[in-house]
Amino acid sequence: MKQTPMASSPSSSRETILPSIIIGAGMSGLTAASKWHQAGMSSVILEKSRGVGGRMSRRRSEHGNFDHGAQFFEVTDSSFQQQVDRWQQQELIRNWSRGFPDLSGQVRGPGLPCYCGRDGMNSVLKDLSTGLDVRTGQRVERIFRQQDLWAVETEDATVYQTRALLVTAPVPQALSMLEKGDVSINPRQTSALARIDYEPCLTLMVALAQKVNFSEHGGLWLSGEPLSWIADNASKGLAADVASMLTIHAGPLFSRQHWETDASEVTRIMLKAASEWIQQEPLAAHYHRWRYHQPVELFPDRMLVINQDPWLCLAGDGFGQSGVEGAYLSGMAAAEALPD
Ligand SMILES: Cc1cc2nc3c(=O)[nH]c(=O)nc-3n(C[C@H](O)[C@H](O)[C@H](O)COP(=O)(O)OP(=O)(O)OC[C@H]3O[C@@H](n4cnc5c(N)ncnc54)[C@H](O)[C@@H]3O)c2cc1C
Repeated sequence: MKQTPMASSPSSSRETILPSIIIGAGMSGLTAASKWHQAGMSSVILEKSRGVGGRMSRRRSEHGNFDHGAQFFEVTDSSFQQQVDRWQQQELIRNWSRGFPDLSGQVRGPGLPCYCGRDGMNSVLKDLSTGLDVRTGQRVERIFRQQDLWAVETEDATVYQTRALLVTAPVPQALSMLEKGDVSINPRQTSALARIDYEPCLTLMVALAQKVNFSEHGGLWLSGEPLSWIADNASKGLAADVASMLTIHAGPLFSRQHWETDASEVTRIMLKAASEWIQQEPLAAHYHRWRYHQPVELFPDRMLVINQDPWLCLAGDGFGQSGVEGAYLSGMAAAEALPD
């Protein structure tokens, strides 16, 4: 087994133990990392994907860019509003719309500003990650205890050690890493965590030569099944060399039923269901399966400290509040929970 960046015995290499490790470079993980960075504590962030963003990723294509996960975010919390104001001053985000209509033409919800990234939903996360030690392509397989440290083993059998470990992967993935390393959690917490499941979301990204005008807002809530949402990324100002770049989300029922269905068949069904708005032959269609869209049930608190010393904490949008705002607040709460 490869031991990086320290020797195998923690007692013989105390000076090389990492101050903190964060698993996941999405909103919650990068928020916590940035908060610790500002306080003078360094972190290594291990991320399985090729880039930062998690479920706020942006997808590049030959015709332009798509936000294929989170579409926008709203603000209800005053501390998140302060952060959002800073992002707006930095021109990382913009106010896309005040709500979006449904099929009856009524704008759903309270009409709060719906913010999106200037250059994709990951704009703020790319900015947050500046100066941080983010290691992409590092899939964590298991977490285990090595004496008074936490050890994190990646797919390529590299082992990192730390006294402070924050896990921000969706809860079922976090639990799997802990189970593989025989980390015990108190049974009451285990049953609360086991209840946190997430809806899947099948997603289609479609490039079109002719502009579609399904809503002056640029996004439209659909009936829910088989499709729940359609939006034109061009209306957000994302780079494109064609007229319309649509993101289409399927509903949870359809997504569960067709999770294993062949991609070309799902593409065909979703295009047919959206034909009323598309009305032309697409230039290109890309398909993505999101296993973790949003939690069906939440953990009641914004984060959960599993162990104080060495410190182990779980956070993310499964804790306290779902969505982008919930992930931000959870990352903040986790960062603040680490004792000095
Ligand atoms: C299709 C879709 C639409 C959405 N729409 C909206 C919306 O419009 N508004 C809104 O507010 N929210 C929306 N959301 C939800 C929002 O994207 C999430 O709540 C938020 O991004 C979660 O952030 P997070 O940091 O908690 O988790 P994530 O973004 O999932 O970050 C966790 C990170 O951990 C990494 N990871 C997982 N396992 C491992 C491992 N073993 N090793 C290393 N790294 C690992 C993942 O790759 C990921 O980058 C949407 C989500 C989806 C999927």
